[in-house]
Amino acid sequence: MIEPLAFSELTTMRVGGPPSAMVAPATEQALINEALVVWGIDEEWMLLGGGSNTVVSDEGFDGIVIRVLTRGIEVLADAGDGLVRLRVQAGEPWDDLVAHTVEQGWAGIEALSGIPGSSGAAPVQNIGAYGQELSDSLLAVDFLDYETGEVRRMDAAELELGYRTSALKQGLRGIVVAIELGLRDTRAEAYVLGSALSQPVAYAQLAVALGVQPGDRVPLATVRDTVLGLRAAKGMVLDPNDPDTASAGSFFTNPIVTEQFARTLPATAPRWVLEPELPDRIIPLDEYAGVGPMPGVRDPRPVKLSAAWLIENSGVRKGFHLPGSRAAVSSKHTLALTNTGGASAADIAELARYVLGRVQAEFGVNLQPEPVLVGLEL
Ligand SMILES: Cc1cc2nc3c(=O)[nH]c(=O)nc-3n(C[C@H](O)[C@H](O)[C@H](O)COP(=O)(O)OP(=O)(O)OC[C@H]3O[C@@H](n4cnc5c(N)ncnc54)[C@H](O)[C@@H]3O)c2cc1C
Repeated sequence: MIEPLAFSELTTMRVGGPPSAMVAPATEQALINEALVVWGIDEEWMLLGGGSNTVVSDEGFDGIVIRVLTRGIEVLADAGDGLVRLRVQAGEPWDDLVAHTVEQGWAGIEALSGIPGSSGAAPVQNIGAYGQELSDSLLAVDFLDYETGEVRRMDAAELELGYRTSALKQGLRGIVVAIELGLRDTRAEAYVLGSALSQPVAYAQLAVALGVQPGDRVPLATVRDTVLGLRAAKGMVLDPNDPDTASAGSFFTNPIVTEQFARTLPATAPRWVLEPELPDRIIPLDEYAGVGPMPGVRDPRPVKLSAAWLIENSGVRKGFHLPGSRAAVSSKHTLALTNTGGASAADIAELARYVLGRVQAEFGVNLQPEPVLVGLEL
């Protein structure tokens, strides 16, 4: 055990008291050994990677934190199918991994550039941004199962990855020791084309910023640079000089509601029909006539709303804060709640409750928090 640090020093929201104790293993074997020791003690425990999706109460955590500090990216044997298989240690910073794959000419996670945190936490909420999700590239994880104390390989399908969720987020207890990714090897193609190309651009805003059409492929490094630029403009790349980045990223997920309910919202509300069979294909509700079920779409058709639009249109503006509070809505993006300096976890929770109440009163939608909340009730 090592001297525990307060969560205000371990999380990007910079709030929260200390845990009772902490271990910080830096090798795969130490992670497994120390976890088994911790699990043998009759105390609560929790995992922490980069602390970018965790918000802990001012009282801290009455238990032991396992802080994952393992590093390493290993290229696995070539199966001859055009995919590069990587085994990545859980503590490897996600964005270092993305930078490495882009440099190497391996496509599949370039649009996930700039997401903070560790690779082992990436499956927990199936990180996603700008038209890519971890589930597009994740093949498997090595999982230290709390129930058995054994490491087992779990195929990605077993993790039930969905929109900002997984079996891990829903209560499966254990540790992702390493993740295995399958990325497209563009190096042979790059030899002919002169540069390594991304996967087809799958997000309208990114396509506009790149000056291409959705579905086009562009140099990997250009995608990375453009995504980093778009994210920085929204305060979504950690930057000690940008107070808007003292956050947990998006504090709320985009709600998914029935088509019937979505049609009761104002015409200006962004709404996208989700195709359950092909969850990546989304159709603007206004472009969908709604006459009979769409091919391949089960009834009722789920519709995704924009939490940012709902918040802004419930009267909560960018930069909003409650009187005297040091917690504020980001000045760049209504989805992020930020610590403007010296905020308490109670301040963050109070602001979150206020936002939830406004959206519920205005639109009848219950927003769901995206970060993992420890000892906090909204
Ligand atoms: C500025 C900013 C921008 C962000 N942008 C995005 C975005 O675009 N898209 C997106 O999806 N997310 C985004 N996030 C959220 C966050 O970065 C991701 O969820 C990230 O994967 C969290 O990693 P972490 O290591 O920091 O997790 P932590 O906060 O340390 O942990 C999160 C959860 O995962 C668990 N966990 C951690 N490590 C492991 C492990 N090895 N095995 C099992 N469980 C584990 C923890 O116990 C906890 O429940 C953003 C956050 C910030 C601050």
